[in-house]
Amino acid sequence: NRPAQLQRAFVQTGHGDSRQTIRVMQWNVLAQALGEGMDNFVQCPMDALNWAERKYLILQEILTYRPDIICLQEVDHYFDMFQPVLASLGYQSSFCPKPWSPCLDVENNNGPDGCALFFNHKRFQSLNTTHLRLSAMMLKTNQVAIVAALRCRTTERAFCVAVTHLKARSGWEVLRSAQGSDLLRNLRTVAQRIETKEKTDTDIPLIVCGDFNAEPSEDVYRNFATSNLGLDSAYKHLSTDGKTEPPYTTWKIRPSGESCHTLDYVWYSHRAFDVNAVLDFPTAEQIGPNRLPSYNYPSDHLSLVCDFSFKDPVLVSQ
Ligand code: NDP
Ligand code: CA
Repeated sequence: NRPAQLQRAFVQTGHGDSRQTIRVMQWNVLAQALGEGMDNFVQCPMDALNWAERKYLILQEILTYRPDIICLQEVDHYFDMFQPVLASLGYQSSFCPKPWSPCLDVENNNGPDGCALFFNHKRFQSLNTTHLRLSAMMLKTNQVAIVAALRCRTTERAFCVAVTHLKARSGWEVLRSAQGSDLLRNLRTVAQRIETKEKTDTDIPLIVCGDFNAEPSEDVYRNFATSNLGLDSAYKHLSTDGKTEPPYTTWKIRPSGESCHTLDYVWYSHRAFDVNAVLDFPTAEQIGPNRLPSYNYPSDHLSLVCDFSFKDPVLVSQ
């Protein structure tokens, strides 16, 4: 009696070269220790959070879409699940734990949670991987990011992909904004370093995935949208006017009430990439009255999946 998977379709948003599409997934998978021990999802039955079963729903979600690049937050089963399973499917990866993960405060935890980045090793070669502990007002914070420079093995094009998980909760808007600015600063430095190595004269294209824990009205969102790195948010292409973020990326019920927010984003260099397609979100009816997580979906955050292509595709000889 397997629970039915939420049915989601890709929405075509452009007509770039589909043969060289780079599929990227952004997903806060919900740390096992936090889901069972801290989150208090009052409408979610405890046995829907059982790791022995939930791990298959997480893998199903990833393998249904088979992304070339997978950016995850709240990973607290990297060494015993994500890394070995995804390595056997051809993914190379990197894990950056949070310095003081709240998972460690939960009884029988499986270690700290953190960000993890996976890429299809057949398609991409890793040029460089950087683990960042984000700073705010000169001080080290509890939030991290991974920045990886990759080169496409067929087209030889290089680009950077980053994954982050910014500080949660209301009241921390100024900290989130400072963390975002620190990430932008680091992206500039990493991009420059790769540029020098690659001896290119253009900016290295970027893809930045994250649970920013910030609505589009927050400073950190505005700072990303207006930075001199030329970033745009891929999921705006899902809206009819092309300018609006989706109505929710996370939807849960806590003792304090229902919490339905847009917090997760996939940023990309709009000068370098086209967004060919994005995976639509399930409707409120599909999600159901008890919201997320549930027997049908293993996290309180929905996955974001986008297909990118380079704007001027390099012709590959046959
Ligand atoms: P954050 O505020 O960023 O939140 C950590 C996690 O809690 C996130 O994954 C977040 O999920 C989730 N979360 C958000 N809102 C709620 C909520 N209302 N109820 C339950 N969970 C929620 O935490 P920090 O990284 O700043 O770490 C703070 C925690 O770390 C402390 O509470 C403490 O437990 C621990 N800590 C321990 C230290 C030590 O000495 N051992 C030192 C410092 C911190 P999402 O992003 O999906 O919203
Ligand atoms: Ca969470």
